[in-house]
Amino acid sequence: ATPTALMVGTGRGAQLGILIKGPEVLESTRRVDTVVLDKTGTVTTGRMELQDVYVADGDDEEQLLRLAGTVEHASEHPVARAVAEGAAARTGGPLPAPEAFENVAGLGVRGTVEGRTVLVGRVRLLADAGITFPGELADAMAEAEERGRTAVAVAWDGTARGVLAVADAVKESSAEAVRELRALGLTPVLLTGDNRAVAEAVAAEVGIDEVHAEVLPQDKVAVVEELQRRGRAVAMVGDGVNDAAALATADLGLSMGTGTDAAIEAGDLTLVRGDLRVAADAIRLSRRTLATIK
Ligand code: ADP
Ligand code: MG
Repeated sequence: ATPTALMVGTGRGAQLGILIKGPEVLESTRRVDTVVLDKTGTVTTGRMELQDVYVADGDDEEQLLRLAGTVEHASEHPVARAVAEGAAARTGGPLPAPEAFENVAGLGVRGTVEGRTVLVGRVRLLADAGITFPGELADAMAEAEERGRTAVAVAWDGTARGVLAVADAVKESSAEAVRELRALGLTPVLLTGDNRAVAEAVAAEVGIDEVHAEVLPQDKVAVVEELQRRGRAVAMVGDGVNDAAALATADLGLSMGTGTDAAIEAGDLTLVRGDLRVAADAIRLSRRTLATIK
């Protein structure tokens, strides 16, 4: 391999908005035949907004928003930002910081507000705390998910109190990017911690057939490894802390420049502007660079 061609490829990458960790990275793209895409923040904008508030019988909407918004205030997660901002807007004031706060990766948050233990996140987060989720709330959640929203449960003092539905948009360039990746002979796969209904809705919108939903952060790696065991050479594109291990495990890790530092550090390449079409540019560039070397 001529180092010069690799250096030229690296320089051309910078012009396209691709930061390459080292020239040898281009070599790893040679065999890649599968591209695993994270959903939130990678295929979608990740800028979620609070859409619907569903309060259990006998509970108060204003209190639900105040308690949920206050715990979420302490989290960086896109769902958390949507809940905190939406709650502040709807209750007409800035929310205080929670008295205690803990992030539960891939499930939600747990915190103390006004002396109460508050949970916001997946139903599994409540179940793990021994809190039952009544049919009334499950119906509200299912209905929101059918409409493509990410719905999270809210509980305090050991009782489920309501459901908050947030939604973000698919990036304008995502469908085009998936077409370009397919044209390069890559099979696209959607990988997300979000619920199945939302994942299927996003996959259909951008043209992806293979969907892995409700995957916990630590299990994203297992999905990549399973694909590799079946003989696939995997590129992974992600933006979150929860994608870092999978980015490192993949044959080629592409991180969104708009994402977290953990993802950027774990990746081999960074797509500076967070545009998924540049992932196709990166594969095309490295194939061309390698062809020059031969
Ligand atoms: P993705 O893989 O799509 O980037 P995550 O693994 O970050 O998604 O999150 C998976 C799911 O866990 C979210 O869709 C949401 O239901 C729940 N969740 C995670 N963090 C939070 C939070 N701070 N507040 C509420 N729900 C959360
Ligand atoms: Mg993400």
